[in-house]
Amino acid sequence: MGRQGILFVMTGASGVGKDTIRQAALPDIDNMLYSISATTREKRVGEVEGKHYYFYDKEKFTTAIDAGNMLEHAEYVGDYYGTPRQPVEKALAAGQDMLLELELVGARQVKEAMPDAVMVFIAPPSLVELERRLRGRGTDSEEKIQKRLARAREEIKAVREFDYVVVNDILAKAVDEFASVIKAERAQSQYLTDKDIAAFLREF
Ligand code: 5GP
Repeated sequence: MGRQGILFVMTGASGVGKDTIRQAALPDIDNMLYSISATTREKRVGEVEGKHYYFYDKEKFTTAIDAGNMLEHAEYVGDYYGTPRQPVEKALAAGQDMLLELELVGARQVKEAMPDAVMVFIAPPSLVELERRLRGRGTDSEEKIQKRLARAREEIKAVREFDYVVVNDILAKAVDEFASVIKAERAQSQYLTDKDIAAFLREF
């Protein structure tokens, strides 16, 4: 039997650059699927259903939770976000690595349910810089920006719960470090199958 897929969880404040790092890193990383989340928040300009998120109304979201169809879910700044369970479990069982992008509450739920998950925190160089980026994005009201910053402060305080920390100061460096984390995890001997070892031992 082949190995199970490795589950990677990427967490970090809204605006810290998780999407940008992922989009820059993933094309050079094979066998990695990104999980599309469901959310009740409004679609932003340019966002596409089924690509950036599945946009659910509150009722559909609650029904999915009640049916056990969410691997994790959390409330974030007035909206719900959650990971559809089936695609993740199916991918991991097939040996496909999976990447989730979650806020802290959801990340903790995943770690509890799947203790082997590799937890990666993306930190801003500072909260001052994070605020500048959130404002520069121009997608949120002042009230939402303040709420997102408050959440960011709480998330940063939990950084020691994570296995790895990547500081997104210089983007190219952050992308490189994130890719290195994935490579290092994949190189762990625990993921070798008996078939892999038999192949190393082949003498003819
Ligand atoms: P945004 O509204 O900026 O797209 O996302 C807000 C926050 O929700 C970000 O920290 C993002 O990583 C997180 N998030 C996105 N999808 C999920 C999900 O499926 N579950 C959880 N718990 N958080 C999510």
